[in-house]
Amino acid sequence: MKTVTVNIVTPDGSVYDSEVTMVIAKTTSGEIGVLAGHIPMVAPLAIGAVKLKKAAGTTEVAAISGGFIEVRPDKISILAPSAEVAASIDIARAKEALARAEGRLQKKQDDIDFKRAELSLNRAMNRINVHEGNI
Ligand code: ATP
Repeated sequence: MKTVTVNIVTPDGSVYDSEVTMVIAKTTSGEIGVLAGHIPMVAPLAIGAVKLKKAAGTTEVAAISGGFIEVRPDKISILAPSAEVAASIDIARAKEALARAEGRLQKKQDDIDFKRAELSLNRAMNRINVHEGNI
């Protein structure tokens, strides 16, 4: 099966750079599956898991906190504010972030703070799900 290079880049640098046969990502308008040779495309990403299928039949997973996917026939770039492959997720930190966000959501506050807490909760839940393989 044909492969395509996938690079996941954050402001801290590249967190993933490998050949895969398929990428499954959650865009803001739904899940997409991209194979090698796909026509060029750019789409905004939701907070979610990116699944990276390898030629050997294995699948790697990364937690992505939004950003964009840029598809070219021979290369897929994911540019995200933050992203972690499953093995590098600190589960205790994600659980603390989840508890903090839940606490903030229970307090009465303005719309901006509510939205920020909601996004923080989504990032934490996404990391927990990716770490635990619930995707
Ligand atoms: P926290 O409140 O724990 O910082 P956050 O969602 O606000 O979580 P981000 O702003 O998305 O964090 O990310 C800041 C940096 O910390 C990024 O480099 C991100 O990869 C890293 N990071 C955040 N949470 C975790 C985690 N649970 N495990 C590993 N790295 C993490």
